[in-house]
Amino acid sequence: MIAVILAGGFGTRLKEKTKNIPKPMLKIGGLPILERQINLLKKYGVKEIIILTHYLSEVIEKYFKDGGGFGVKISYFKEKEPLGTAGGFKEIENKLRDDFLIIYGDTMLNIDLSRLIAFHKKNNGLATLVLHPTDHPYDSDLVEIDKNQRIIAFHPKPHFKNQYFRNLVNTAVYAMSPKILRYIEKGVKADFGKNIFPKIFKKEALYGYRTAEYIRDVGTPARLLEVNRDYKSGKTERLNIKNKRAAIFIDRDGTINRHVDQLCKFEDFHLLKETAEAVGRINDSEFLAIAITNQPIVAMGLCSIEKLGQIHNKMETLLGKKEAKLDGIYFCPHHPDYGEKCNCRKPEIGLVKMAEKDFNIDLEKSYFIGDSWRDILCGKNAGLTTIGVRTGRGCRGINIKPDYFAKDLLAAVNLIINKKHGIK
Ligand SMILES: [Zn+2]
Repeated sequence: MIAVILAGGFGTRLKEKTKNIPKPMLKIGGLPILERQINLLKKYGVKEIIILTHYLSEVIEKYFKDGGGFGVKISYFKEKEPLGTAGGFKEIENKLRDDFLIIYGDTMLNIDLSRLIAFHKKNNGLATLVLHPTDHPYDSDLVEIDKNQRIIAFHPKPHFKNQYFRNLVNTAVYAMSPKILRYIEKGVKADFGKNIFPKIFKKEALYGYRTAEYIRDVGTPARLLEVNRDYKSGKTERLNIKNKRAAIFIDRDGTINRHVDQLCKFEDFHLLKETAEAVGRINDSEFLAIAITNQPIVAMGLCSIEKLGQIHNKMETLLGKKEAKLDGIYFCPHHPDYGEKCNCRKPEIGLVKMAEKDFNIDLEKSYFIGDSWRDILCGKNAGLTTIGVRTGRGCRGINIKPDYFAKDLLAAVNLIINKKHGIK
């Protein structure tokens, strides 16, 4: 596979820092971001790289030359005038015979590229967009995917009150088929995210690849500092999915939101007052935040999967307004009295196992927080440390004892994070 790196940006928001060097040459842990990207590509066997340049292109070319010194083969294409993120691709069309990767030159990333490439090849879409939840969905362009991860809508900002969307944004890391080039006009300025994808997603298959791995742009001085800090602490590397991560699994009704019997209208969904702060604290740690919920109302015919999706969109939107995000939401729609017994209804551990596989979770270092015996038993069955909260059903009248009790979700999260892994 070939990779194309877009390195033509001006870096206007970085002002002084990019006066004499282009943004992709800014250093992270002592090496230019571009070099970090090239090292990552090489590690995953992508050794043919095209760099699209414009602003201060000579600095980049002088540093990397033909790539030989870095163990890869690099060619350059200098845009005479900036053509947006897509426009320049028409100029290098003859070099793009097979599927290729696209990375923006101001993005620090450490993701398992072989997993992304395998996903892209399996689905065989025109493009695969790497997506992740953000802590500021309210002012981001959002992407909607279906259960097969095909993209079914784009929701550009601004978003209005009472509009509830999933918290998923385009990270601008892509795998693409060269067939997409037929949608790009030669010499016309165009952007993949703004002009190309929204125009074609209805007739062409575009897929979203979700990941919780490290992907951040360094567009502002504050972010450049933060990315440097993350690199030096090892976080950038630790978040690569090849490394196991610990998770905090959280029950939904009565733990995240106010308990309502058979909640099936999104109007009835209200976060408990400590929830956003609690989830935000998880996000600031390196734990994953994953909701695990039984929703037998689907099997009972009281709520469709679509309506349940709206409720979850509201949950994500309300959290997002307070800069908190869930890495995953898993639900069991079944009930043994309405169809067959499944392996995902808590206290069964099917959903935990699914998340374990999706995120490469270290169950031994992970936790389950919930308000009912089903949560606690599910946590125990999966080998997790369990914390019972006093909100919702409050773990009342149960004889299965959690490892710890806490008054609410925030107290439970504080217990975990303050004590780190030494909780037991
Ligand atoms: Zn189930």
